[in-house]
Amino acid sequence: MTLSSPSRALAANNCRDELKRPETARDYLASIFDCSNDAIIAKRLDGRITAWNTAAERMFGYAASEIIGKPVTTLFPPDLLPEESEIMARIVTGRTTRTFETRRVRKDGREIQVSITVSPIRNAAGEIIGASKIVRDLTDRKAAEERFSNMQAELIHLARWNTMGMMASSLAHELNQPLAAMTNYLSALRRVLAAQPQNHKLLGELVEKSVQQGQRAATIVQHVRELVAKGKSTRLPESLAGVVREALQIVSVAIRQSGVEIKFEAENNLPPIEIDRVQIQQVVINLVRNAAEAMAKEPERRLNVRVVREGSNLRTDVADTGPGLPKEVADHLFEAFVTTKSTGMGLGLSICHQIVTAHGGALTARPNKPHGTVFTFILPLEPHGM
Ligand code: ADP
Repeated sequence: MTLSSPSRALAANNCRDELKRPETARDYLASIFDCSNDAIIAKRLDGRITAWNTAAERMFGYAASEIIGKPVTTLFPPDLLPEESEIMARIVTGRTTRTFETRRVRKDGREIQVSITVSPIRNAAGEIIGASKIVRDLTDRKAAEERFSNMQAELIHLARWNTMGMMASSLAHELNQPLAAMTNYLSALRRVLAAQPQNHKLLGELVEKSVQQGQRAATIVQHVRELVAKGKSTRLPESLAGVVREALQIVSVAIRQSGVEIKFEAENNLPPIEIDRVQIQQVVINLVRNAAEAMAKEPERRLNVRVVREGSNLRTDVADTGPGLPKEVADHLFEAFVTTKSTGMGLGLSICHQIVTAHGGALTARPNKPHGTVFTFILPLEPHGM
């Protein structure tokens, strides 16, 4: 559709003065063309631009006079040039493309996120002579989505830190007593050893009391961990694939920003499973964050997440292409306070382990091939006591 200048002038006029009534079908078209909030661009089969509305001027920064006659690929980022031949291959067969999301470049060089629909244009004889594109600027929407997703990820992160903070402070409080008692018994032991080393009975009593206090400290740690893991557990029948997918969406922006490519697959028709949605998402988020952190320095950063049925269980694999588990943590992976990170608390995996175990399942880790780590958690389909 190439608009003659009177039509364009009329269209522009109608756009400014909405009360004026267009007189003919052509004027109606011209009015729609120029009042649209979406860019409408027409091109010939050789890709040269033949029409360019006011919204296109606003969106791309080129005046119609500057861009008409230029190849439409002027608007393409260099890495997306092959897209044009794919679009044209569809158009010449008379098909409209589905609306798809992509990127284009403005005159000032800034890239914008857009959604595009391309349809063939035919002449009076029905022959395809070009294509029309409707382009919507998604930059604001994408930025809002990104902000929202970042906020969500941050909230989960904060919640995790908050849980850890609460746990750490109650641990400190609870552990203070047995540790103080142990210190007292051991100091007494040292005094007795110095003064009367032959008094084996007294020595034995002091050692025994000290061991008891050590065991008490261990029970407290265990108790607090169970509290965190079991917390306020609400289990309902859920789609595990849906729960995992949602957890991935929550972290996806942060993860993609760190250059990690995420692939998710789930077996079809998986049965519902009784789980605490939030807790299982906490497990997935922890595993994914750990994987992304482990891959930070790797040239290839791929994360494959898979949910499948395995007998009477559902199994979730989180596989990364990182350097694998450091030797010093491999044997104590699920114990609290095991970390190799300067800012880590070493609680993530121990909490994941607690959550999965409380669901009657199991969390394990094994090396990935050719390198990396696969964390797997299985959850039983038969409900398990809380
Ligand atoms: P934190 O993340 O606070 O260190 P975690 O319990 O989540 O605590 O992890 C414990 C340690 O296990 C990490 O410090 C890291 O050394 C190791 N680890 C966890 N996940 C991975 C992984 N996907 N690849 C390599 N090492 C990992």
